[in-house]
Amino acid sequence: MDLSAVVTEQDNLEQWLPTFRLSAFRRGQVDVMQAVTEGSDTLCIMPTGGGKSLCYQLPTMAREGTTIVVSPLIALMKDQVDALEELGIAATLINSSISAEEQRSRIRRMQDGEFKLVYIAPERLRSSSFIRAIQQVTIQLLAVDEAHCISQWGHDFRPDYARLGRLRQYVGNPQTIALTATATSLVQEDICKVLDLKEPSVFVSGFARENLALNVESVSSNSQRDRRLVEFLNATAGAGIIYASTRKNCEHLVELLADEIDRPIAFYHAGLTPERRRAVQDKFMSGETPIVVATNAFGMGIDKADLRFVVHYNLPGSVEAYYQEAGRAGRDGDPSECLLFYSYQDRFIQEFFIENSYPSRGVVKQVYEYLCAFDVDPIEMTLMEIKEELGLSTGTEAISTSENLLEKAGVLERLDSQRNMAAIKIDSEHQTLVDMLPRDAKAQRRVLQALEYRVGSLRGERVFFAPKQLAESLDMKWDAVNRAIRNICKLEAVDYVPPFRGRALHLLSKDKKFHELEIDFQELERRKQAEYQKLESMLRFATTTRCRQIEILEYFGDPEIRTCEKCDRCTEQGAGGATSYVLADGDANACMFAIQVALSGVARTHGRIGKNLISQMLTGSNSKKVKGMGLQKLSTFGLLSPMRQSDTGELIEWLLESRYIAQMETTKFRPLLQISESGKAIMAGHGIENCWNRMPATLAKKISATLKGKKPKIASSSPESEKTKTGLPGPAEPEKKSKKKNKAVETPVADLSDEVVDEDVTQPEPDSSSESLEAGSKKAGSKKEIRVDGPESVKPAYYWSWKLLSDGYTHREVLEARQIDESTLLDHLIRAADDRLKSEPEWLLDADEIARIEEFVGKHTESNLAGMVSRLPKSISAQQLMYFQKSRTQN
Ligand code: ADP
Ligand code: MG
Repeated sequence: MDLSAVVTEQDNLEQWLPTFRLSAFRRGQVDVMQAVTEGSDTLCIMPTGGGKSLCYQLPTMAREGTTIVVSPLIALMKDQVDALEELGIAATLINSSISAEEQRSRIRRMQDGEFKLVYIAPERLRSSSFIRAIQQVTIQLLAVDEAHCISQWGHDFRPDYARLGRLRQYVGNPQTIALTATATSLVQEDICKVLDLKEPSVFVSGFARENLALNVESVSSNSQRDRRLVEFLNATAGAGIIYASTRKNCEHLVELLADEIDRPIAFYHAGLTPERRRAVQDKFMSGETPIVVATNAFGMGIDKADLRFVVHYNLPGSVEAYYQEAGRAGRDGDPSECLLFYSYQDRFIQEFFIENSYPSRGVVKQVYEYLCAFDVDPIEMTLMEIKEELGLSTGTEAISTSENLLEKAGVLERLDSQRNMAAIKIDSEHQTLVDMLPRDAKAQRRVLQALEYRVGSLRGERVFFAPKQLAESLDMKWDAVNRAIRNICKLEAVDYVPPFRGRALHLLSKDKKFHELEIDFQELERRKQAEYQKLESMLRFATTTRCRQIEILEYFGDPEIRTCEKCDRCTEQGAGGATSYVLADGDANACMFAIQVALSGVARTHGRIGKNLISQMLTGSNSKKVKGMGLQKLSTFGLLSPMRQSDTGELIEWLLESRYIAQMETTKFRPLLQISESGKAIMAGHGIENCWNRMPATLAKKISATLKGKKPKIASSSPESEKTKTGLPGPAEPEKKSKKKNKAVETPVADLSDEVVDEDVTQPEPDSSSESLEAGSKKAGSKKEIRVDGPESVKPAYYWSWKLLSDGYTHREVLEARQIDESTLLDHLIRAADDRLKSEPEWLLDADEIARIEEFVGKHTESNLAGMVSRLPKSISAQQLMYFQKSRTQN
């Protein structure tokens, strides 16, 4: 490329800066503008607020012709046009918010070339008269804003966006720029495919936010989360948003914070009425309510520049969602803080959400057959209504995905809200179908002619029209028009949808059996795996030991990689970060000892147990479960007994966070621990100094206070001795490994309570000295493996409630994760008990409740359950009693 040309280009662009009342370009903007100026199709990826608009607005000024901007939100469109008009730039918008007459006038002026920029809502393209009008405009550029709305798999899919590719053809394939803040490659692929961009120039920039401190704080329980949030808010001035994952959490937090914080707080979620939402938003914008607790429904169009903080109370499902929300802080450039609370359990809740948003084949079938049974058309039902009618325990997203699949299979069409419009589709290349109607059917022939005119060039596409207007233009009553249309519909090429108010579903064919539909369930699986990958990226961000900003830049593919010097990892004293703590020799020894023992404990249980049991084993607990699994026979049993179990838990969590321990995916939602490669090295003493050095000071102090005098066992470098020491199968034992595998296949499915750890079991070590680390004698004995559960789809809803509780999630966490109420949860556990899934009364009942029920049951020993229920006092519910009785009698 000729460099001088580039320089001139830039000069040319710069001369337009004053028009926009700007003094300089932001990093990345120039590259995009140059590509646009050079005429190539462009994909521009910048974060929200990064300055994407300028990338098409400014080159538009430098060239002849009009730029058509497609934008999904009427409010955003209006803001943009107002701002441009402010600057004296000829711009306008055409959408349903303006009168038909005004629309016609603007269309005329657009054809006359009066506007440099015309913003349109995508549903305008349903009108063939609009297409005809636009075909007469000299279009220099088509700008597709918020282009991720194109992707069926993005979070904001809009059916009208999916048609933009065809629109682009109708208007002669003008140069196109697509703009989005989304980094997912699947979505980017979809954008380029739908718009048919040929070898687009792709630019990523602007993700570094120098004024934001991205901090992550590890918490081990919800009460700790709550406590830390209160502390944070009391220490942080200014306005901000707290994002929580569910409506319930929002309400819980507002209740909690109302008593603890002396600033006004409101909550916002999609369950509020539109008026209430508007009121909350207005008060937030005006500063009257400086803090809002919200779900991710809050934020679209919130452009408050002076937010001093954004807190994520729960882990978001993707880095995109996290950064979009966190990025709302500090738009004014002043220092601001983003705080993410993270607990290793968050992963399982997110996995649970993913599992629930993907339908099984059975669910898709149920949805299809349910919709086919309707005789109204279109079917106006929300996702929630369908879900409830079918009594499904999945999330509403699973219904949405089912509809999506049925749409792709060509049997269903989803119609976006088009207030009281009807819709017609004429799928024929014939000039006219009028001659196919009976000669004497005058009304039908006239109506069809009028419809064909409205469809115009949009053959094969759904075109909306206002029934009243059609009737007026024909000088007929709507009833008569409607009758005529019903008859016209007998022509195979014509498909009609009567007027509807909201979101609606239209079945194109009902004759096919479900198994005849072409549905790509493999594709579905691929998308689901992509969700898991997104979650992994989010977890990587939460647990990284590197600069948080660097993780973000790498994720989005932004080439401007540099450390931020602000996040907890960079400063090493941000809350939750690793704090260098100068320890006396003895203290350091104690820490190294604890690390080695904990890692060794994890190694010896071969990924078969979770955090709580490991902690119990290390501290020498006598619990039933420890005994039942033979953990007391392990050489590491009780080696950390001077420590509290919760502190051992904290140590394990830190090791997890530092990735010396990994999560094993044996069973969904059940966190099993396994030692990682780097953990093995540390356990053998390699690099252990660097390891304890990064331990948080609070943890190091707790350990040294209880374990002073313990010495680590530093290994010699010989692999042989390492093997003996760790009790791990060394690399030279492939044969034995494969034997184990065969064994596992033969072993019948083991109940979870049957987990046995009998390998590496040593003689009990009365003297818990560090020496016992060496005592792991190996025994190639028989070994039961836990078998992975069968396909999730065959598990009933109550199973998952039971599963989460049995995995140690608290009552409240399960309510939240499952999005069910108390009574449903009790019901699930009662059903689980009937299915011989064991539970404990304590899972759902507190000590008072248990005491009350025990007393009551004690007084009515002679009665059967039904008899007891009839005598229950107000303070005990029938479900509680049943649950209590069933869980008791199991044990
Ligand atoms: P996006 O569409 O990427 O979310 P916008 O285009 O709406 O972002 O721009 C966000 C804000 O940044 C606007 O207020 C805009 O005026 C401002 N802005 C854009 N480019 C520059 C620049 N080069 N210098 C200063 N401000 C800018
Ligand atoms: Mg924008």
